[in-house]
Amino acid sequence: MSASRSSASPAAEAHDATEGTVGTGAPGRDRYLVIGNPIAHSRSPEIHAAFARQTGQALSYDRLLVPATPPEAFGRAVDRFFAQGGRGLNVTLPFKEHAFAHARRHSDRARLAGAVNTLALDGDTVVGDNTDGPGLVIDLRDRLGFDLAGKSVLLLGAGGAARGVVMSLLQAGVGALVVANRTPARAERLATQFNASPALRAAALPPVGAVALSAARAADLIVNATSSGVLAGGLALPPELFEGCTLAYDCVYAARPTAFMLQARRGGASRTADGLGMLVEQAAESFLIWRGVRPATAPVYRMLRDAISAEAAGSDAAGAGDAR
Ligand code: NDP
Repeated sequence: MSASRSSASPAAEAHDATEGTVGTGAPGRDRYLVIGNPIAHSRSPEIHAAFARQTGQALSYDRLLVPATPPEAFGRAVDRFFAQGGRGLNVTLPFKEHAFAHARRHSDRARLAGAVNTLALDGDTVVGDNTDGPGLVIDLRDRLGFDLAGKSVLLLGAGGAARGVVMSLLQAGVGALVVANRTPARAERLATQFNASPALRAAALPPVGAVALSAARAADLIVNATSSGVLAGGLALPPELFEGCTLAYDCVYAARPTAFMLQARRGGASRTADGLGMLVEQAAESFLIWRGVRPATAPVYRMLRDAISAEAAGSDAAGAGDAR
């Protein structure tokens, strides 16, 4: 759940979170929200509106900005939303762990991730799930035609996104999975959680982990699940890491190739992809949980890709105008 513009002002969204009706909704429609801070950039309302049109479902889906403090603000907003008849929520930064703590029941993948991006009601019980892992794996398999079975994978990062995808990668049958993180203890904790899996190892990011990472140099797939910067900066990775890499995948998405994708191309990766497909697929999995139907994702992916490109072209033109 990343990126886009909001029609509501952040101030109005914050007001919703603290008093009165949570989200606006529409009469006769089931109500859903994406909740985060910041949230105005979220593309999720466009994605779910497209899914609803395509499948003929009567629902509304809004953004809700919740203050990051006090910590109870998140739970209060969720409880109020459900008490007012809301049917489900997506959760994004920085609340995925709050959502995990707030859910009374969890799917296996949410429990292993320790993070929740989808909340639904089962009777009166708030159930937490995490659809990031299936989102990545389905995007790799169906859109990019990448078969994970037996492949060697290097996963960069050990935050919420990385934790969310480990189980799905292992279930897809990867032959080896190295999780490398700037704070190595977090990668080690993650590997320990899956200690029944001989495929999984932990490592540190360079410079500390240069040696450990060189062991992962034969990775077929390298996934960047860090939040280290989209277009500028990026990770200090040895270029030779990408030698022999068939696909370098950045969970972040943008109109243009990200810093990680450019690094990967320079290092010799055969293909690169950003995380827009993952975003659409994780949303489709949430929609399936809530509505019992999985929308076709290819047209929605195309719609978003075109919208992002058009916005970037528009801001380039505006920038050129400003410069004159
Ligand atoms: P978290 O904040 O939970 O984790 C951030 C991770 O990035 C940590 O592993 C952190 O390492 C690492 N990191 C941050 N800055 C640096 C740096 N300068 N150098 C090296 N490592 C760094 O974020 P999430 O895991 O939730 O999200 C990660 C990214 O994935 C975000 O950009 C998010 O937008 C994207 N995402 C995309 C999705 C999609 O559908 N396309 C879905 C979910 C997330 P450390 O532990 O050392 O702090």
